[in-house]
Order: sequence, then C-alpha cells, then structure tokens
Amino acid sequence: MDKIIEQIKTKITEYDNIIIHRHGHPDPDALGSQKSLATSISRTFPNKKVLLAGEGVGDLAWISTMDDVSLSDYSNALVIVTDTANTPRISGENYDKGDFLIKIDHHPNNDQYGDLMFVNDEASSCSEIIFDLLTTWNFVIGQDVATAIYTGIVGDTGRFMYDATSSHTFEVASELLKHQVNLPAVNQKLSEVTLEQAKLQSSVYDYLKIDESGAAWAIITQDDLNKLGVTMEQAHATVSTPGRLKNVVSWIIAVQKPTPETGYRIHYRSKGPIINTLAMKHDGGGHPLASGANASDEKEVQEIIDELILRVKQEA
Ligand code: AMP
Repeated sequence: MDKIIEQIKTKITEYDNIIIHRHGHPDPDALGSQKSLATSISRTFPNKKVLLAGEGVGDLAWISTMDDVSLSDYSNALVIVTDTANTPRISGENYDKGDFLIKIDHHPNNDQYGDLMFVNDEASSCSEIIFDLLTTWNFVIGQDVATAIYTGIVGDTGRFMYDATSSHTFEVASELLKHQVNLPAVNQKLSEVTLEQAKLQSSVYDYLKIDESGAAWAIITQDDLNKLGVTMEQAHATVSTPGRLKNVVSWIIAVQKPTPETGYRIHYRSKGPIINTLAMKHDGGGHPLASGANASDEKEVQEIIDELILRVKQEA
C-alpha cells in the first residue's frame, strides 16, 4: 500500500495537466473527494492545471461545480477517478483518453481499472482516503479542502452513524476541525430538503410494503414525482426513510427514471443482511449495507423485491 501511495504522489508531481472524475448521480462523497483532491493539488502545485470533470451536480452545487473539459485537455494528462467502483459509473466521457489513469476508491474492488489503484474498502468514505493521502504526501489542506472532505465523510457515514464509521474516521474529523470547518453550515446543508421532498418522504410510508421477514420496498413513479415537482435525484432524500421503522430490516426504494431513460433506479439499504451481492445481479453494486442498481422494467423490480425477501429470510 505504501508503495502505491508513493507512486500516486510521483504521478501527480510529474504531470502538469490533471483531470479528476467521479461517479454519475454524484453524492456528497463523490463531490467532496473529487473537489478536495483537485483543490489540494492546485494549492500544492500552483502551476499545474487541474480540472474537475463530470456531468450535472444538481442540488449539490454548494459542494462543487465542474469545469468545461474537452477532449484536447486529455492529451498528456493524468486522470484520477475518485469514489467510483466500476467504469460504467464514471461520469464524464473521455476519462480513458488521458496518458495515465488512477482509481482511488472505498467500494469493494470488484472491477479493477486504471494503471494504478488505491482501494481501501474499510474506509468510511473516499473523502476519508483523500485526507489520509494528502496528509501522507504533505499536501496543502486549508479550510475549503477540509470542508469538502468533511462533507464527504458526513454524507457517506450518515453523520457518523453507519457501520463503516471507525475510530480513524473520528480522528480524521478531529483533524479537519482544526481547519475551521463550519460544522453547523455543512450539517444544515446536508440535511435540508424542500417542502416537496419532505412530502415525498412522508408518502414513502404510504407506498411502503413490509413483508413479515422485515424486507420492505417502496416504488415511486414518475407520476408521483411530477405531482410534487421532485426530480429523480431529489427523490434520493427518501432513501433512508424506511430504516427508521423498527420492524424494517432491509429495504429498497425504486424510483422510476424520466424518459428518454426507461426503467427504475434501485436504492438498497440494510441493517444487517448483505445486499450488494443482490445489487450486482442488476447492473449495480456498492457497499454491503448500501447499494444501488437498475431495473429495466416493473418485472425486474418485482424480481429484486423477491430476492430481497429471500435474502432477509435466509439471514433471519
Ligand atoms: P445510492 O443508493 O445511489 O445512494 O448508492 C448507494 C451506494 O451504492 C453508493 O456507494 C453508490 O456509489 C453505489 N452504487 C449506486 N448505484 C450503483 C451502480 N449502478 N453500480 C455500482 N455501485 C452503485
């Protein structure tokens, strides 16, 4: 591991042009890891050109915005991808057109890509890994870098509550606070929703079906979203809602995609039974207790529900 960390530092030092990607439908960890790495490299090496690549950031523009990146930017460039387990999920075309590719991630390393990889699937978040790398390399960390990292950690740990939160995660958070991170502001931004999202959250309790095993599911259609004026991305605010219920063990939220896409985006969450192996069967993946996938139609959504019920019954 130490050797890879040094090799990544050498590559960053060598290249004048660096482009950083992350996954599509970004969450705070994707953007926090991407932004903190880019900002720290720019501060440490003011003469390098560092670009952030990827598609829309939706309501998360307060964390980071993207640069205009064209194909010509990739010639002789180092490309680094953060928080992205597999290549189909990388946001931004041309990620493979650079000179050298590095993967930095905290998901199980089932899809190995890149000329160099640093993957620690025990880290709470990719942002936590970025902090460890920046401190090992002695790169600059200021208030904005620390804020982006802290935002990613809080986002992926559900405010230090999920199981991947370790004593090291708290040590990192403690170090970050020395850089004047505005905790109330970050926490407020991460938890705030629009009134329409709050209404959708409460209707999830109406849509929710709970099997006697503790498996639960809710299907949100485009009609439901349109009635409230909520986008598919904004519907993400509903994902943890069923977990508050005492008798729910594992659950999915299926959100119908807007046309011209078809099918459903599936969010899996679990309090115990492992669900990422289920997600992998449906064009997805993720962490043992928090994963995502895709269903091409209602029939596949039903298969996903049946598999979830079976998994929860097996682990009872
Ligand atoms: P989400 O339900 O979108 O919040 O995703 C939960 C976790 O699963 C995150 O770590 C995502 O990066 C990961 N994930 C979501 N969708 C996919 C997918 N299609 N393939 C692989 N990983 C995914």
